[in-house]
Parts: sequence; structure tokens; C-alpha cells
Amino acid sequence: MSSDTPLPPHNWPQMQPGWVWLCGAGPGDPGLLTLHALNALRQADVVIYDALVQEAILDWAPQAEHIYAGKRGGKPSAKQRDISLHLVELAQAGKRVLRLKGGDPFVFGRGGEEAQTLVQHNIAVRIIPGISAGIGGLAYAGIPVTHRDVNQSVTFVTGHDQSGNTPGSLDWASISKGSQVIVIYMGMKHIAQIADHLLRAGRSTDEPVAVVTTATTADQQVLETTLGRIVDDIASAALEPPAIICVGRSVLMRQVLDWQGMAAGHPPRNLDPLGRGRPAESA
Ligand code: SAH
Repeated sequence: MSSDTPLPPHNWPQMQPGWVWLCGAGPGDPGLLTLHALNALRQADVVIYDALVQEAILDWAPQAEHIYAGKRGGKPSAKQRDISLHLVELAQAGKRVLRLKGGDPFVFGRGGEEAQTLVQHNIAVRIIPGISAGIGGLAYAGIPVTHRDVNQSVTFVTGHDQSGNTPGSLDWASISKGSQVIVIYMGMKHIAQIADHLLRAGRSTDEPVAVVTTATTADQQVLETTLGRIVDDIASAALEPPAIICVGRSVLMRQVLDWQGMAAGHPPRNLDPLGRGRPAESA
């Protein structure tokens, strides 16, 4: 889409000078941006973006200054406090500021802290949700995050806390018992410990697990494995973060829903991976 293609008719909000719009960019594929995000990209004076934001998205804001505020990729890391205060400064200078974050800004993205800092400094904010990697990334891998025959709940967890350790506050035993499907963000570093917690809490070594790296981008990789084999399989596939790890039987649905594989000419591996023995449309 060229940068002057008009948006469909709608009462699009206008960015005002001195405002900060905190916006999700989705998991990677630029097509997963919302129209509110596109509307913002076209108006912003400054875009402050994270490491997980695909740089192609910035091409949609050619008029804006682009500032990198990421924390990986060999570039110098920015401290959270510095980022928040930088947003305050830009807003106070009267800029229309677009803070663009990977996925959804309020899902493991520190969007809450940034927005709170802005409000504490009397800066007006607008929040634009985005598609979170733990939902959209799995969908691109052909894994429905809920599926009626599998789960009535899903738990999203982070694999490390502020100190970089596995979160001590997580009650793995309860999560394990209470949630058929567990979606883990930032889980690669501590996967051995996490798998161990889940096995000790009673999950089976045969439990299906998927690891989806750089989901929704051209580099997306998907590993299907089990809780018992995950550590070895990640190592032998040499998978690198960012990755979403999904634990639970919904992973089996990939055998019939790997739509990218099918588009590339691979037939579905199994039309009834959950063994229901009847057509999916029958209740
Ligand atoms: N706010 C983001 C999450 C930020 S935390 C969201 O809603 O998606 C960063 C973690 O998100 C990564 O370590 C990884 O676990 C996950 N993640 C983000 N983008 C991803 C992608 N394209 N593929 C796989 N995992 C991704």
C-alpha cells in the first residue's frame, strides 16, 4: 500500500501535538498492524520503536523521525526508565509521538509502566492494542490458542522476570493443573527449568509442545516436539529467540491447520489429529 492510499472512511482520530500514542505493531508481518496503527504512523512526528518491530513498518512513516529503543540485536540497550522519560521529553516538546511496540503493548511489553509514567507527567495518551505473538504467532503456525476439544482456558506466562530468572512468583504446579494450554513468552533461556517445573507438576513427557520463532515473518520456524524432548530438540534445531512456546494438545491441530505448509503444496498430515472420529462440524 502506498503511503498516500487513503484509509477507508471512518472517523479517524487525529494525533495532537504533545500526545503519545502507545501502539502495538503485531508480531512481525506488517499486514497484522491495525488501521489505527497505520493512521498513527501516517501522522506521527516521531516513532520510537522496539527491537521486535519490523523495520519495514517504519517505511509507512516516512515523514517521521525514527528512534530505536530496543533491547537486543547487538545495538546498545536502552533502559526502561530512560525510554519512558524520553517519551515525556518528546511530548513536552510538542511532538506527536508514536511509541510502537511489538505485539500488544499491554502484554509483557511494559506498556503499562510507560503509559503510567506519561500520565504521571500529565501527558495525554492513547492506547492502540495489537495482535500479541502468543495468539497471532501461534495462528500463523496453524495452532489455535483455544480449541473446544482441547481447552477452556489458556495461561500466558513469561519465562523470566525482571531479574532475568524464571519468575519465582509463578506457581507452576497450579498453572500446570489449572490450564490445559500454556503459552510461554520469553521462555527460551530457561526452557530446561520450565520443562522441569511442568513435568514435576505432573505434565507428561509426551505432552505436545510447539516452539515458534520469529513468528509471522519470512524467517518463521516451527518446531513440534514434546515436553520430554524439548530441550534437546531446541538445541539440535539451533532455534533462537524470539520464540513463543505452546504447551498442550492444541499443538496437535497443526497437523491439520498448517495453512502455510498447505499453501506451499504440502498436504495436511492428519485430518483428525485429536482422534474425534467424526467431522469437525458435528457438535
Ligand atoms: N508485547 C509482545 C511481547 C513482548 S515480550 C506481544 O504482545 O507479543 C517479548 C517476547 O514476545 C519474546 O521473547 C517472544 O517470546 C515473544 N515474541 C514477540 N514477537 C514474537 C515473534 N514474532 N515470534 C515469536 N515470539 C515473539
